[in-house]
Amino acid sequence: MSRPGADRKHSKKRDAILAVVRSTVSHPGAQWVYDRLKSDIPGLSLATVYRNINLFRQEGAVASVGVIDGEERFDGRVEPHPHFVCGCCGRVIDYDAPELPPQFSKVMEKLKDVTDTQGGFIIDYRKTVFNGLCAECVKAKTTA
Ligand SMILES: [Zn+2]
Ligand SMILES: [Zn+2]
Repeated sequence: MSRPGADRKHSKKRDAILAVVRSTVSHPGAQWVYDRLKSDIPGLSLATVYRNINLFRQEGAVASVGVIDGEERFDGRVEPHPHFVCGCCGRVIDYDAPELPPQFSKVMEKLKDVTDTQGGFIIDYRKTVFNGLCAECVKAKTTA
């Protein structure tokens, strides 16, 4: 507080980190964000990037997609939406299903039966993570 210069510098760093997370739909981890900023921000550390992203997450400016291949991945798009995760390359893709496809409605009905017998917890479809192989990994597998 007593050093406005330092605060301004700090918030500039914060702004840059948030801007990088929001600039991509690739759902980056802290390392990816750090790699993009390290040459622009001398003295920046991976720990600083990670700490700031976690602060953004707590503030609701950034969402966590969860840990994929040992690294927590983040999303600049904070409204809940389903994700597709490639089990081969770790790619995270927004899966924009405007409403529940019919086959999933059936699955959700079954799940509701299960949750009812277990105390009626609620499953939020918008936060669903689908696992599989992305188009590129399918292609790589079929041409190999
Ligand atoms: Zn893939
Ligand atoms: Zn997303």
